[in-house]
Order: sequence, then structure tokens, then C-alpha cells
Amino acid sequence: MKEFTQSLRLSPSEIPNRIYGVDNWSGGYFGVSEHGCLTVHPTRNPLMGIEITSLVQMLAQRKVTPPFLLRFPQILDTRIKELHEAFRNSIAEYNYGARHCAVFPMKVNQKKSVVERLMAAGHRYEYGLEVGTKAELAAALTISMHPNALLICNGVKDRRYLEWAMQASKLGKKPVLVMEEVSDLIKIAEVSNSLGIHPTLGIRVRVFSRGAGKWEESGGETSKFGINTMQLLDCLRMASDREMGRQLKMLHFHIGSQITDIRRIKNAIKEAARVYAKVCKMGFPVEYLDVGGGLGVDYDGSRTASDCSVNYTMQEFANDIVYTISEICQSENVPPPTIITESGRAIVAHHSLFVTNVIRMLNPGLGGSELDPSMVDSEVVRELWDIYNDINPKNFREYYHDALHHREELQSLFNLGYMNLQNRAQGEWMFWEICRKAIKFSRSMKERPEEFIDLENILASKYICNFSVFQSTPDSWALDQLFPIVPLTRLTEEPTVQATLCDITCDSDGQIDKFVDLRDVKQALELHSVNSDPYYLAIFLVGAYQESLGMNHNLLGSPNEAHFLIDDTGRPHIDKIVRGASLSQVLELVGYQPKDLMENLRQMTQKAGAQSKLSAEEREALCASYESTLGSYTYLED
Ligand SMILES: *Cc1c(COP(=O)(O)O)cnc(C)c1O
Repeated sequence: MKEFTQSLRLSPSEIPNRIYGVDNWSGGYFGVSEHGCLTVHPTRNPLMGIEITSLVQMLAQRKVTPPFLLRFPQILDTRIKELHEAFRNSIAEYNYGARHCAVFPMKVNQKKSVVERLMAAGHRYEYGLEVGTKAELAAALTISMHPNALLICNGVKDRRYLEWAMQASKLGKKPVLVMEEVSDLIKIAEVSNSLGIHPTLGIRVRVFSRGAGKWEESGGETSKFGINTMQLLDCLRMASDREMGRQLKMLHFHIGSQITDIRRIKNAIKEAARVYAKVCKMGFPVEYLDVGGGLGVDYDGSRTASDCSVNYTMQEFANDIVYTISEICQSENVPPPTIITESGRAIVAHHSLFVTNVIRMLNPGLGGSELDPSMVDSEVVRELWDIYNDINPKNFREYYHDALHHREELQSLFNLGYMNLQNRAQGEWMFWEICRKAIKFSRSMKERPEEFIDLENILASKYICNFSVFQSTPDSWALDQLFPIVPLTRLTEEPTVQATLCDITCDSDGQIDKFVDLRDVKQALELHSVNSDPYYLAIFLVGAYQESLGMNHNLLGSPNEAHFLIDDTGRPHIDKIVRGASLSQVLELVGYQPKDLMENLRQMTQKAGAQSKLSAEEREALCASYESTLGSYTYLED
């Protein structure tokens, strides 16, 4: 008997894997402890895990309140190592006759601490940077990098951009100026002549093969970037005419981000390698073939070509690139190029997670007191009451449809003035109770009709969470991108509530109602009923793009941020705390100077004092609370 009960006991990972798919998307960086708490494993060592709640407690001791972004710089180190080793393996396996070098595209996460950590961890791989604007270039110029690391300059460029990019070579960097249109060549020639610098040049070429899914637009014939075959020939001819042909060392392609299907990558590489071979044969000394970004992240853990997943591993990505280029160079009889990759998403997505606290739960159709049938003086409400009592597993579809009809009746009677608020409230309450019963009965059906699935989603609870979708997960709003979301604790306890998440902006789009699922997309997330204890949710894989795209909608500013390192004994340390934006910081961005705000408030309280609306003490207190709150966090603090 004892043995039997033991074998029935759930292992701690049963619920987190069945419901939240933790093992599917965690990449070995996250797990669950035997206490049912989420853990993080920055070095991917399963034995070196820290419960994330213990990090939350460390922050609470320092009065750092949620929501916060937790950063794990060691995950960046691990990702960089994995990427480079994947290419080293492929190069050895296919006996490839040249090297692989990677650069980090700054637009994916420009945070100084992130870029600096990447450059330090990537030093031994000669890891470089890719920039697309003047501001990114300004930052990159000052960041210390390996002297052999490349600084790839993409994007639309003005004269100052070109000057800086060329002068970078005098500052110990190795810039490559990538031309995105034919006219760039003329501008580059001018600046180059006036500075007396002859920069290394690249050409961004358009490929027919394109990505797929939400991010596909960056590749393909209609892409806003790159030049087509005719323009390429023009560009090559013009470069030769200006004696700049010797400087042309790179061909650059980028078919888009989050390429979900490996076949798309293979096709694009085939095309790119052929272009490389033909340009080589025309006598240009091309050394580098830059294949851009696109290496995807398996956000939903399904390992499929669906939008938020990928059907390949990092090693398969490397293998396909190296093998394809190698084959084509052999068949064309040209030397193999140094392969450049610009993966951003896959390098930084895992390294940060966002933690928010649930403020309260709202249940649609609940609230209000129980129905007292003796008080009902409306025919429709009485009918609903009968349905409520008589509905059963056999008749529930029919009875549910009757209830729908009665609810419409209820609505029209009220609108026409034949019903009071009390009866309307009772009728509505009855209706939702009938729905709840119908949902319960429908769960035991083999083929559950769509209408009950929809109904269940309509009746999902809403968890109000202390965060802003627009600031912290903008792509879930803009692109319906999925991020794994899991409670930090109680993972040995079966969740009982179906919920969607609402943020604290006053925007109806400020919610998350699509969730990671292995087979499909879930419209509601299974969560625990919240009691008086704090209930935290972690949103994972937010390290790529979310920080740079996030915005201060409703003046909710950047969240608190903490960087954690774990030492050799597995103990966590806070490396750095960055306080989130204060009220005065976000207000200043939209033109309110904190000094003026304070001054104006003072004048207004004086006026109110003169009219005896505020006592001297009240005035003092109001000014003091205004001043101290201007310096505090924009999110809810209690
Ligand atoms: C955005 C971008 C990248 C990064 O792509 P990921 O899919 O995030 O790896 C790389 N190269 C260029 C030119 C880009 O514009």
C-alpha cells in the first residue's frame, strides 16, 4: 500500500512540464526545484540551480520592488560559446577551408551592460558588432573589442556616419561599410577621398529566398533592404571604375529574423553562395560571406516551423550553412569565404526574464449575492432559474441555447424599460452560472464543440498584473508573439483557474491572452487561485528586442533591473541593480520639468491655503508626498 501511494505522488516536474512545457523551451537554463519553485541555471549545469524566488527575496531585502527584469550575464557567455562551438564543429566535420566569425547586431539589445558582457565573453572568438544607425555606431566606437573583431556598418548612412565608420579603423577597429544602395558607393568615394581612408566595403544583396512568418519582410524581392542583381552589376562596375574594386571584401545577406523552417535558410544560403562564387570569378577579392541573422528561438518549445518555434537546432543551423557554402564553392571552384553570422535573437533571448506580481483576479459574471428565488418577480429570470436547476450532462447543449435566448430577452426587456436593475442583475448572474455548468458538462465530451471552448475563454479569469505589456513584452502586443509564462512558485500544486493577464495600462490592448502550448496556442493560462500571499509570474525569453522596443505608454517607465551571477559553489550574487524609471524621469521625457511641477504645485497649494481649503499642515504634507513620489517607481508599490 505504501509503495502504491508513493508511485502516485507527482514528481515535481510533472505539472510544470504538462501545463507550462518548461523542459520544452527552457534550453536547460530553467527548471523546477523539488519545492515546486522555478529555478535558473545560468551555466546550464543542472546541479547549479537557484530558485528564482530566493532572488526575489534578495531584492526585497534591498527594497527593490516588482516588477523587475532579472538578467543573467552568464547565460550570455554560455550562448556565445554554444554558437561558436557549433560552427567550429561544422567546420571540422566538413573540413571547411576557412573560418567563421560572428558579430552581435546591436539593435537586438543595445544595453551597455549586455553589449560589454558579450564583447568580453566573445573576446577569444574575436566576436564583433553590427550597427545600423549613427547612434549605435557612436556607442560601438567606444566599446572595447578584440582588434581582429569586425565592426559591420549596415543601414542608411549620412556623411557623418560614413566618416565615423571610416575613422573607426584609426581607433583600432575593423570596420566594414556595407552598401545598401548603388548611390552609397558615390558617397563613400567622396568621403573616402576627403579623409584619405580606403575602407573595407561590403554589398548587401537581396535574395529571392525569403523567410516566413511574422518577420519575413526583411528578405525577398520586395524587401526594403539590399540591391538586386542588375544594381549589383552596376555597383561592381562603378567600384572598378573608381579603383575601389580591391576594397570590396564582403557580400551581405539577411533574409529576416526568427526563420522557423531550416529549408528557408538552406535555400537562401544556396543563392547567396552562388552570388559569392560568381562575384569571385569576376575577379573581386571577396573574403567574407555574411549570412545575416535569422537563427530562431523556440519560444513555445514545439520544435516545429510554427511562428514562435524553430524546426532545427543551433548545430543544424551551423551545419547547413557550412555544408552548403562548402559544396557550392567546390563546384564553382572558388576559395571558401570566411563565414560571418549576425545572430542576435538566439544569443540574448534567454538571458533575461521578467517578473511581475499579480495584483488581483477578476472573474467575469461573478460578484453579487446569491439568488433568492422568492424575490424574483420576472418571468425570464424564473425561466433561467429553472434551466439552472435542470441542466444536466444530457441536455446541456439544448439548455445552454435556451439560456442564450433568454438572455437576449432579458436585454430587450431592460432596454424597453420593462425590467428593473435588480431583476437584470439576477438574470445575468443566473446566465453565467448556467454557462459555468455547461462548460463543466462539455469537458467530458469526446469532440468538444467550438462554442464551449470559446465560452470557456470568455469566462476566463483576468489576473491584473503589475506591469505594462508595451514596456516589457511589446512584441506580444505588436506581433502576437508568445513568451512562456509560469508562476514562480506552487508548481507542485494543480492550478485551478483559467486566466488571461491584464496589465495596469489603461489600454484595452494591454493584455496577454495567447499562451505557449505544445500543439496549439492557448487562449488562457492555467494559474493558481491567489490568496493573501504574493503570487509572481515570470515571463521568459524576453532578452531579445523587447527592451529596445519597449515604450512608456501611460507613462509606465522602465522596470527595476537586477543582474545576478552564480559563483562556483552555486551561490547567487547581485552584480548590479539598476533602478527603474521614476515618475519625474518619465514626465521629463514628455516635457514636464520636475522643478516646474514642484513649483506649480506649491503655488496651487498656496492659493488653496489662501481660500482656506487646505491647512498649513495639509499643504506641507501634500507637497512632501508629491516631491518624494516624483522620485519613486512608476509601477504599483503596495
Ligand atoms: C536584425 C538584424 C539581425 C539580427 O537578426 P536575428 O534574427 O535577431 O539574429 C542581423 N543582421 C541584420 C542586418 C539585421 O538587420
